[in-house]
Amino acid sequence: MIPFLDLQKINSVYRDELIDACRRVIDSGWYIHGNECACFESEFAQYCGVRHCIGVANGLDALTLILGAYKELGFMKDGDEVIVPANTYIATILAVSRNNLVPVPVEPDSESCLIDPRAIEEKITAETRAVMPVHLYGQTCEMDEISVIAKRYGLKVIEDSAQSHGAYFGGRRCGGLGDAGGFSFYPGKNLGCLGDGGAVTTDDDELSEAVRTLANYGSKEKYVNIYKGFNSRLDEIQAAMLRVKLRYLDEETEKRRRTAEYYLRNIKNEKIVLPYVRNPQDHVWHLFTVRTEERDRFQEYLKQNGIQTLIHYPIPPHRQMAYPEWNERSYPVSESIHAQVLSLPISSVQEESVTENIVRVVNEYE
Ligand SMILES: *Cc1c(COP(=O)(O)O)cnc(C)c1O
Repeated sequence: MIPFLDLQKINSVYRDELIDACRRVIDSGWYIHGNECACFESEFAQYCGVRHCIGVANGLDALTLILGAYKELGFMKDGDEVIVPANTYIATILAVSRNNLVPVPVEPDSESCLIDPRAIEEKITAETRAVMPVHLYGQTCEMDEISVIAKRYGLKVIEDSAQSHGAYFGGRRCGGLGDAGGFSFYPGKNLGCLGDGGAVTTDDDELSEAVRTLANYGSKEKYVNIYKGFNSRLDEIQAAMLRVKLRYLDEETEKRRRTAEYYLRNIKNEKIVLPYVRNPQDHVWHLFTVRTEERDRFQEYLKQNGIQTLIHYPIPPHRQMAYPEWNERSYPVSESIHAQVLSLPISSVQEESVTENIVRVVNEYE
């Protein structure tokens, strides 16, 4: 079976360096909020082209803390609205709900599957405070148009960058394209640690300070609590793992791009719709997601031929039990995306012969 993602293989490339980094942390005697986290924060901030990075426990916390910090700073209050794409992973939406804010889903563009700037503008009300574009599958959203709309209505732009480490828009990297960015370092992400991890990026000094404080029990000074905070930390071991892997991220992205280009050039089957690419140099290919009418039949066919695939995602957020208030709503573009998408294997360690084999099997599908 060709696995969808082989994490053991991905990390084994850096095995010696990871073990050295781990040993360094063990021997340091300092396991939380130490040198590794501080160094990773400054290295990742530099990578994203922003002034601040705050390491946190996971991607959901990163997004939750950004919104929570805006509330503490008085920019948002309970019941305010945040615009989100209707076809995202549930974490984007949970981050809004968890802050007693109201997520307002909008339809994506049917071709790119990315949030549609025109649809954003239609949903803006007097209560709207922010928009959260998700750079889905590793491709950045239409950030110029989104920024113009945000400026016109005084909204914050919070990038969900959990799938797009290193992705570009207009020559700048995500995480620095809006007011703040939230990243996940879950093992399967393009930059993944060996456990859970996340980060917030921003150029805003005040927001950075508020996120850092909120993530540390609401405390800047030990035992003095100015907010009802969280405990959300990127631990030293994970930060040390990430410092090793960050050095190879661009190289890994190049390998993903080569695989994606091979798929794009060679998959020729009228039943299979290839993913939309705005600019090949901007995309980091977290997922290579094709679309087809009889998706489940196609997935079963690939499985029979030894190829593991995944669906991102099978159930749209508005059809989830967690959001019963939305279950009667209709988001036709989102629903058709959820019914048609299938992600083919792609990674930095996928061999050319494997990619060729997948293409052959896909092209023989009838
Ligand atoms: C993975 C992911 C998250 C959440 O990250 P975790 O680290 O798992 O909490 C948020 N948004 C999107 C789009 C994701 O893919």
